[in-house]
Amino acid sequence: MRPHCLFPLFAPITSLPGIGPRLAPLYERLAGGRVVDLLWHLPSGVVDRRFSPSVADAPSGKVATLTVRVDAHLPSDSPKRPYRVRCADDTGFLHLVYFHAREEWLRRALPVGEVRVVSGLVERFGGEIQITHPDHVVPLAERDSVLTVEAVYPLTAGLAAKPVGKTVRAALDKAPDLPEWQDSAWHARQHWPGWKEAVAALHHPDAAEAVGADTPARRRLAFDELLANQLALAMVRTHMRRREGRALTGTGALRDAVLAALPFALTGAQTRALAEIDSDLAAPIRMLRLLQGDVGSGKTVVALLAMLTAIEAGAQAALMAPTEILARQHHATIAPLAAAAGVRTALLTGRDKGKGREAILEKLAGGGIDILIGTHALFQEDVAYRDLAVAVIDEQHRFGVHQRLELASKGRAVDMLVMTATPIPRTLLLTAYGDMDSSRLDEKPPGRRPIATRALPVGRLDEVVAAVARAVQGGARVYWVCPLVEESETTDLAAAEDRHRHLAEIFGDRAGLVHGRMKGAARDTVMAAFAQGAIDILVATTVIEVGVDVPEATVMVVEHAERFGLAQLHQLRGRVGRGERPSTCLLLYDPPLSETAKARLEVMRATEDGFIIAEEDLRLRGGGEILGTRQSGMPEFAVADLAIHGDLLAAARDDARLVLERDPHLASARGEALRVLLYLFERDAAVKTLRSG
Ligand code: ADP
Ligand code: MG
Repeated sequence: MRPHCLFPLFAPITSLPGIGPRLAPLYERLAGGRVVDLLWHLPSGVVDRRFSPSVADAPSGKVATLTVRVDAHLPSDSPKRPYRVRCADDTGFLHLVYFHAREEWLRRALPVGEVRVVSGLVERFGGEIQITHPDHVVPLAERDSVLTVEAVYPLTAGLAAKPVGKTVRAALDKAPDLPEWQDSAWHARQHWPGWKEAVAALHHPDAAEAVGADTPARRRLAFDELLANQLALAMVRTHMRRREGRALTGTGALRDAVLAALPFALTGAQTRALAEIDSDLAAPIRMLRLLQGDVGSGKTVVALLAMLTAIEAGAQAALMAPTEILARQHHATIAPLAAAAGVRTALLTGRDKGKGREAILEKLAGGGIDILIGTHALFQEDVAYRDLAVAVIDEQHRFGVHQRLELASKGRAVDMLVMTATPIPRTLLLTAYGDMDSSRLDEKPPGRRPIATRALPVGRLDEVVAAVARAVQGGARVYWVCPLVEESETTDLAAAEDRHRHLAEIFGDRAGLVHGRMKGAARDTVMAAFAQGAIDILVATTVIEVGVDVPEATVMVVEHAERFGLAQLHQLRGRVGRGERPSTCLLLYDPPLSETAKARLEVMRATEDGFIIAEEDLRLRGGGEILGTRQSGMPEFAVADLAIHGDLLAAARDDARLVLERDPHLASARGEALRVLLYLFERDAAVKTLRSG
């Protein structure tokens, strides 16, 4: 249960003054729906209002705070002209300019003859000194409240700077005193503020530098977040480790049968990975291993061979994929190979209902199914295995820790293999998987041809269409991925539909469309048509990202390539180059490109090595282009920025390890404080491992 002291932070934002049902959705879009989300809504800059010259000395183009007497109201004589209020000090006149003004309101705020403190951007216009829409107009008594450095926040349509600042400050008022969870010697050495001071400092910057990412306050909070992340991962891991494992040794009989049925020999990397997995399985501990390998590096076969050991030992195995399409594809690959060894497989997804589902569950419980492949349907409450011993999760980061745990809870001492096709830079690996053991498939199966990659401005679309037409005539199949315009499915969809319409004019019904909004069955139909060659061109939003295998596809067109993360582009490109024939990847961009965008496309052109691409991605993203993060499903941090705070990560990991060695149940005073930390950064799933022993 979440500690009481955090309740105010996790209350909905409507608990803040002035936030009602009309504003709440806007704030939700801007930052999130809870008070804590506003705390993590960090300023993007500051406005320094401490400069307070006399009117005559106020330079154009600078923000200044001026103390003036209101002289006269000059209502506009036409709706096109602004309402003006003339003010003055001993040195000259200052005009305040208001468009679409409400006179009544202005007369109340600026009574003639009274002194007012006004702050805003000073402009000189035709010899006049003016401020258009001053940010602040207050009586003299409130002068000090304006003469400050003001935080500037990222905004969203419908929310202005002033109310956002006010709401964030209201959220700040809810920040409770929390016990110190950092190691006291470490904390003292860093000269960092306490938690509450640090949060306050973020939102009350005292100079432009104070919003930077390397202030003591920001580093403190970044470390807190990384510590929560590392502690949570370490706890889950210890939890899995601590629990008794089972030593699984196979006879090798089923494996031999499958290897004999394979039309190829394993690569060196596959053999190495399998040896590492085998030694985990044979040991009386629980395996928790990450199998990393590019698309097409042959993870599925490795997973199958690993699962066969469980079956040889008389137990069952499960393979969970993030989507229906992927689950089906795994089943289609695995079922015939397994059948060659007499191993019984079945598919279970959310689409199985009623009698069909019951029949599968019954067989599963009775041991009539050896390998169950499916989606999260695999760990629903009423799913019971006779004896689940090995679970493979093909997750591409789409499953959370608790889902892994839930699947594990379906068996006794389940050995876990997590597969990912996103090559992850080492620093990020630590944040996503902690110290999980890992095997890399860093060698492609033989016979793969390099993919020719070119970047083209979208102005050359006609050329691209012509090239696609030639390729199709030569028997090629083409993926055409449409831009990720916003994080909104509707707009993505509109773009894909437009492109599909355009291509259908040329290619008729040989051009198909798939997108995330389609019903599973409809989508599968189109995918199948593409796989079978009834469709040559598949226009898609990014659904194909998740691993569909069509070896005949040799052309990949990506529109607005500059908007994709490198990791994602790499994944998309990996959809081609799987067959015998040479493949092409055309990255269309919308010029002009930023330097970073140019560099990123150049990386894509220069290499196909996913591990290099991943490292470059992290390096290039330093400039704030963090587009790739959300799409790749890597953990998102509220405060920490790995490009900047990467140096704190190793310290956080070491600290987390030490904590668990000394205080595995987080029972000491610091342990209690660390629990608060875990809840604060919403690593609740880890806390559960404390209870379930
Ligand atoms: P991944 O899951 O890593 O993307 P897959 O396991 O789907 O890769 O393998 C991609 C393709 O390569 C499949 O068609 C598979 O049969 C084939 N393949 C796997 N291992 C080898 C190998 N050692 N030699 C040749 N082809 C292989
Ligand atoms: Mg695969």
